[in-house]
Amino acid sequence: MRRFTVPILCALTLASASCRQAQPAQQTPPAGAAVTLPPIDGAAVLEHIKVLASDEYEGRAPGTKGEDLTVAYITDQLKQLGIKPGNTDGTYVQSVPLVGITVQQSPTLTFRKGASRQSLKWRDDYVAWTKRVVEKVSLDRSDLVFVGYGVQAPEFDWDDYKGADLKGKTMVVLVGDPPVKDPANPDALDPNVFEGRAMTYYGRWTYKYEMGAKLGAAGVLIVHETGPAGYPFAVVQGKTAEQFDLVRPDKNMGRAAVEGWITLDQAKELFATAGQDYDALKKQAVTREFKPVPLGVSASVTLANAIRTIDSRNVVGKLDGSDPKLKDEYVIYTAHWDHFGVGVPVNGDRIYHGAQDNASGVGGVIEIARAFTKLPMPPRRSILFLFVTAEEQGLLGSGYYAMSPIYPLARTAAVINIDGMNLHGRTRDLEIVGLGLSDLDDYMQKAAAEQGRIVKPDQEPEKGGYFRSDHFPFAKEGTPAINAGGGIDYIDRPVDYGRKVRDAYTANDYHKPSDTIRPDWDLSGAVQDLGLYLTVGYRVAQAEKMPEWKSGARWKARRDEQLKGAAGK
Ligand SMILES: [Zn+2]
Repeated sequence: MRRFTVPILCALTLASASCRQAQPAQQTPPAGAAVTLPPIDGAAVLEHIKVLASDEYEGRAPGTKGEDLTVAYITDQLKQLGIKPGNTDGTYVQSVPLVGITVQQSPTLTFRKGASRQSLKWRDDYVAWTKRVVEKVSLDRSDLVFVGYGVQAPEFDWDDYKGADLKGKTMVVLVGDPPVKDPANPDALDPNVFEGRAMTYYGRWTYKYEMGAKLGAAGVLIVHETGPAGYPFAVVQGKTAEQFDLVRPDKNMGRAAVEGWITLDQAKELFATAGQDYDALKKQAVTREFKPVPLGVSASVTLANAIRTIDSRNVVGKLDGSDPKLKDEYVIYTAHWDHFGVGVPVNGDRIYHGAQDNASGVGGVIEIARAFTKLPMPPRRSILFLFVTAEEQGLLGSGYYAMSPIYPLARTAAVINIDGMNLHGRTRDLEIVGLGLSDLDDYMQKAAAEQGRIVKPDQEPEKGGYFRSDHFPFAKEGTPAINAGGGIDYIDRPVDYGRKVRDAYTANDYHKPSDTIRPDWDLSGAVQDLGLYLTVGYRVAQAEKMPEWKSGARWKARRDEQLKGAAGK
């Protein structure tokens, strides 16, 4: 256990009115004064994980007994800490209406060209679902069209569609951004197109399905490749279980009827049947001249759906700020409580425990809440502890909050999200996904430096980490948000230890039943990181001004609109 000494922020020692006058800039403290933020207890974090990842909690799927137990557990913890109900209706929960759709009977997907026929086996060769809230959807000999990366990006002068009519057709699309080579260095990607090595939103699978909907396609099939996707096909196979979405007025009828993934092997076979060379077409797809290629092959499949609607829940607690004016502004800590529930067994285990993902983050936020309650005086702004549902289903709980916030987003100073803690010891570094987007990164840099740590940008920007957790729906709406990361350069460990641990987790345990508590876990790294997030949240809550996006950040304009709207009211 470590104690973090941070420079004092004046509300703790001075009357806040005079303090505010004396402190014009953000977070610059008077020299010499210091307050110790309460320490984080790693053993307490582990105790939370033990409960939440236990068999009894059945993998915490939305709409199950696991949800009831999880919501009750978190609520109970907040009550014990004296954290107030976070919803204005006096409860600790925000209802999140979800529809769950389960495909029945492992349907076969069939590609046909003349007499030749390619049958794709459910789960092994492809996965598919529908977002449409209907009992049955079909592709009936829908023409397959290869659309390359399926990107329409005017700012990069890029359009893979070239006006092609895709109505009723099925798009075959590559995952990721087009990997355009740097003309100055053939070993690197062009930093001026799709941000070089980093994945932009155009590379995300969610974007590909959104484009299919926009163009009226009947189906969208993404070719799975581990590198650009950022995870193996086994992770995609998780999507054969019940799929959730928010209940929307149009019942998602604007989406393509069938959305899914096919394996690389099946894609290559399909292209061969079509008389095309997959690798050659893939190469073409990296050029601006690429045009959609009708494959002369049709796709047929029928998905019969079991449908249910449920009210899932975000859990929310609130610590009132101490400043009469600033207490109506909020710093939000988020961590998703959900995981995949009970599903297809792997090595005999059917329960997807989600110990690291994200029982650890939930435990972490509960312990951050505890630390806040131990301060001699609450910070000036209010703090929300928001445990969101259905992250694994596409950021639905956080998306719902961002769409229907309990407290206005214009008065939300920052969102600090924790999704998976470091459980392998302390590090000398700290990776920040999307480094340089907002002032929050400066807070992180400063707090990390005080811990003697070096901040690095995301080492795997090609995986599009910034779009993959619950801070993102807030960022998309304009609120400065950060996915608090950990480090990879471990103290007292071999140089490649961090990389090895991370790669092993991605390959073996990520979104699998084996994401369980391990005897070799070392919570000191989680304690180090939680101390940092506590410091950052505390300082943001104390600062004169709310953090801002840096100029050039994609969501800055949205924030400006948001703040203008709030000022007009
Ligand atoms: Zn997660």
